Amino acid sequence: MSRLTALLIDDDPNVHDLIDFHLEGVVDRIFHAEHPASGIALATHEMPDVILLDIEMPYMDGFQVCRELKQLALTRDIPIIFLTADNATHHVARGLDMGGTDYVTKPFVAVELQARVRAALRTRRLIELLRVHARVDALTGLKNRGALEEALERSAAEVARRGGGYAVALLDVDHFKVVNDTYGHGIGDEVLRQLGATIGGLCRPTDLAARYGGEEFALVLADTNQATAITICERLLNAIRKIRVSAPAGEFGFTISAGLAMAGGNCPTDDALQRADEALYHAKGLGRDRLVIWTMASADDLVS
Ligand code: GH3
Ligand code: MG
Ligand code: MG
Repeated sequence: MSRLTALLIDDDPNVHDLIDFHLEGVVDRIFHAEHPASGIALATHEMPDVILLDIEMPYMDGFQVCRELKQLALTRDIPIIFLTADNATHHVARGLDMGGTDYVTKPFVAVELQARVRAALRTRRLIELLRVHARVDALTGLKNRGALEEALERSAAEVARRGGGYAVALLDVDHFKVVNDTYGHGIGDEVLRQLGATIGGLCRPTDLAARYGGEEFALVLADTNQATAITICERLLNAIRKIRVSAPAGEFGFTISAGLAMAGGNCPTDDALQRADEALYHAKGLGRDRLVIWTMASADDLVS
């Protein structure tokens, strides 16, 4: 079984020592943050199995931290146990209503703290199990849109922390409606299956390929520059041009259009998918069956 980790966000250094002491043997590793902002950063980076979150902190209280963690796909499902002073348990209802899993009052009763952390870890394991199943696209076996959104958040956090860059590509089957109308929906599904297999097969292990929805697919190309990303996408377009799908009326092929956007360095990370979508829209407008790269210049200057 994988190592169990916890993150403690509390402004009081003494609490960190106490938690280290009490949770020895309950989790394998504890990450420590004495400031809310560094706590949120650690949570997205380390993805702990449980978060112990102090309610009373200066600048940003535990409720605000909780709200931020629950808004990020990456940290949304990590159980949060609030830590609160004995005389402030009236706060607790608010924390639980915001998505917190449980609370413990200070000063801690060791056995209670340990039991509550173990219970939160059980919840976490169940959520993880559900998540694995919920992140796969049933038709193609690729990752689905939820997994893509997580990967985008993870890549953006990684670039903010370490620099570097990645690329996001959006691919859309050309005139897919005609395929459905001509050969039937079942053959249309087969096109999507073969397309998914081709896209998945050409991805590097660190990349993520997802079915974004319908006949649209997305790629997150990790740790890459524009030249490499273009090479990967062009290789993919070529491989797709060679696909032959069998239909009762005979074999047929199809094409896709693709939009590519870089993220990191001079390029923002938060709108990479939208920029890839803009580029894709232009690829369609320019006649389909091509790759368009989003550039800083105006959309009219998009190069293909
Ligand atoms: P364009 O080149 O502009 O992208 O044209 P298009 O026909 O591919 O695009 P449009 O958005 O008009 O049609 C998309 C079609 O994809 C319509 C929808 O019925 C079909 N579609 C979406 N999801 C599935 C699916 O899971 N299976 C099948 N067979 N068809 C699907
Ligand atoms: Mg405090
Ligand atoms: Mg289409």
